[in-house]
Amino acid sequence: MSEAVQTRKSRHKGELNPRLAAYKGVWVFIEHERGQAHPVSWELLGEGRKLADLLGVELAGVVLGAAGEETRRFCAEACRYGADLCYLMENEVLRDYRNDPFTQGLTELVNTYQPEILLLGATTQGRDLAGSVATTLQTGLTADCTALTIEPENRGLLATRPTFGGSLLCTIVTLNYRPQMATVRPRVMAMPERDASRTGRIVEHPLALAEDDIVTKVLEFIADDSRDKPQLPFADVIVAGGRGLGKPENFQLIWDLAEVLGAEVGASRPVVQAGWVEPDRQVGQSGKTVRPKLYIAVGISGAIQHRVGMEGADCIIAINNNPDAPIFDFAHLGIVGDALTLLPALTEAFRQKLATMKQTG
Ligand code: FAD
Repeated sequence: MSEAVQTRKSRHKGELNPRLAAYKGVWVFIEHERGQAHPVSWELLGEGRKLADLLGVELAGVVLGAAGEETRRFCAEACRYGADLCYLMENEVLRDYRNDPFTQGLTELVNTYQPEILLLGATTQGRDLAGSVATTLQTGLTADCTALTIEPENRGLLATRPTFGGSLLCTIVTLNYRPQMATVRPRVMAMPERDASRTGRIVEHPLALAEDDIVTKVLEFIADDSRDKPQLPFADVIVAGGRGLGKPENFQLIWDLAEVLGAEVGASRPVVQAGWVEPDRQVGQSGKTVRPKLYIAVGISGAIQHRVGMEGADCIIAINNNPDAPIFDFAHLGIVGDALTLLPALTEAFRQKLATMKQTG
């Protein structure tokens, strides 16, 4: 049984229940697979650093894996991305991700060292693990957050996420339980600077668990074939098309511009639902979150469910024939006009410009 705190918050403002106050520090679960860390772990360390500084506590990475250099180097890397220390749990049963041993391991670490905040990526692995760890600890978990900050009075985590189908943003507080857990999708938070000279402590903690104690067995590892699929979340330039393009044949204009710019192609949900492009290209609340340097949105109205997936772009250019389209409220540059006329003209202009640049070296 976990040691989750189940006591009521003090009635006095600013005075934290002593059982809650025993929980200190911000933790980020470092997700990795076959020697590769998931970049969302570093993004979360960037955000975790801000939370830890606001609270005046340490930021820790948490690495679980098979014993060896491959696992240990994630601890060093976590410190380069802002962690003060890293909790390391090594055991052969942690070689490949499985819910059972990872839940037991992470739960044991939390119960031993008592962090007040625990962040995980909202990836397949992170979602699976966060749910079972929160359930085992009987604490609160806010999934798919878009913003995190600290309530100064009670040192509580304010976790903001879309609700009611994305039409509202709500901020959730875990008042009576610790740790306060949250997951965040990749690319929602900015990647922090990596400081190669930064180092930190490593706290090793054993996991007394044998392979025979685990029901789930790994028979074979099949690499994720999505490596060949669109890598929208990490693209620098995205040209995205929406329902305003009118019909599937017109979507070719998006592909043409993307090809000239060396960009990835994105789409709004109606376009995906109509089968014009594959689901992997959907940007938004029920699709991918992207953070490119340039996002060109063509024939997309800018509904909140689309916006939450792309508003982290450095520069948003919107092309829409309706000057009152919501996308113009947050685009950095807006072009009011007919996409079917503008797209071929833009593609040709970029083609010529690039050809001239090549000629002149
Ligand atoms: P519309 O809203 O129909 O907009 C088309 C735009 O094109 C209009 O602004 C119009 O002025 C413009 N236009 C028309 N003709 C032209 C032309 N010739 N030239 C230039 N502009 C033109 N949506 C997503 O995108 N991603 C999601 O992940 C997502 N998740 C959702 C989850 C839930 C739970 C719900 C309820 C909805 C979700 N949606 C999502 C749907 C979302 O609410 C909008 O319906 C959708 O984003 C609208 O897509 P659109 O902008 O392509 O189409």
